[in-house]
Amino acid sequence: MIYLDHAATTPVDPAVADEMYAVLKNDFANPSAQYPAGREMAARVKRWRGTVAAALGCDAERLYFTSCGTEGDNWALRAALWQNRHMGRHIVTTAVEHSAILECCRQLEQEGCSVTCVSPDKDGNIIAEHVLAAVQSDTAVVSVMLVNNELGNIYPVAEIAAGLRAKNPNTLLHTDAVQAFMKLPFGVKTLGADLVTVSAHKIGGPKGIGALYASTRLKNLRPFLAGGAQESGRRAGTEATAQIAGFAKAVEIRSAHAAENAAHLHELQAFARERFSAIEGVKLFPGGADHILALSLVGWPAQNIVTDLGEQGICVSAGSACHQGKPSHVIAALGLPPKERAGVIRLSFGPETTKDDIDAAARALKVHRDTRFPML
Ligand code: PLP
Repeated sequence: MIYLDHAATTPVDPAVADEMYAVLKNDFANPSAQYPAGREMAARVKRWRGTVAAALGCDAERLYFTSCGTEGDNWALRAALWQNRHMGRHIVTTAVEHSAILECCRQLEQEGCSVTCVSPDKDGNIIAEHVLAAVQSDTAVVSVMLVNNELGNIYPVAEIAAGLRAKNPNTLLHTDAVQAFMKLPFGVKTLGADLVTVSAHKIGGPKGIGALYASTRLKNLRPFLAGGAQESGRRAGTEATAQIAGFAKAVEIRSAHAAENAAHLHELQAFARERFSAIEGVKLFPGGADHILALSLVGWPAQNIVTDLGEQGICVSAGSACHQGKPSHVIAALGLPPKERAGVIRLSFGPETTKDDIDAAARALKVHRDTRFPML
């Protein structure tokens, strides 16, 4: 299989799987238990939290494990709205967020919030001034992702943070950094966001575990899941110890290879741009982050391309995996001509990706163009 869908999920690193298996098999005690085996697990969870927190550049006490990036996104919005409930119920976000943000916003609208979605430009960029212009005196929270999962564009979160402090200091800023974590060099302090969401399965870790960073500006972080006193009383539910161990191991591995991975992805991005731009009828999107490349085979329906390449063992996607074949709201937001919009696919790379993988995908796309009918 040629796997070019690392933005959807990544292969679990064998060392991560080994670590998780060892925890599942030998270390099953509940970290809240008061006997030595429980206390030992609590100490290990603390160490694992420290590993993930160090990679984010935050204090470990401000990092809470969640069941996934989606939970982190939902929690962040609701916690920020709760803290600022006396200020207002207005949310500013973008039209190109992950559905974990947009669907949560839709729910929140049903609950009485108002939402402003800032549109991207035709290249998928979000302009900081446009976001700041949408902020009102009753804006409780602004949520702008750091790297777009379908296009790879990098958004100006630090600039938005600085502008927000000047315009409306109490408004809280959330960023969904699921596609940026361990891919872009950033720390939560320089980013200036109050809430940051990450997820393990985009970095060689297991599915079903993520984390939310909340700054000290979140004075009394409201739990999203109410119940037991886990995660300093902020996120109830027995700690998923094996998942947390796998998350920390993945972070450890990616941290140890950060420079070489970044150089490799940079080279792959340039190589892929060269190969795909040589195919007549292909339009490349500008993107930004090296692990994602979106392109359109103008006039050839993306779903057919994904199916055709998939049958040859080449995995690419048409938009985010979460759309499950439905038209992408991200691509729709770009306002492209219909034939350009119809042909958009995403390739995404990881440390395991080779130039041969990209070559094979480029060859298959060319054959697809030469042998399949375009739309009328
Ligand atoms: N946010 C972004 C930008 C993503 O790409 C994803 C996953 O596709 C998520 C959130 C959701 O993360 P998870 O799959 O861990 O719920």
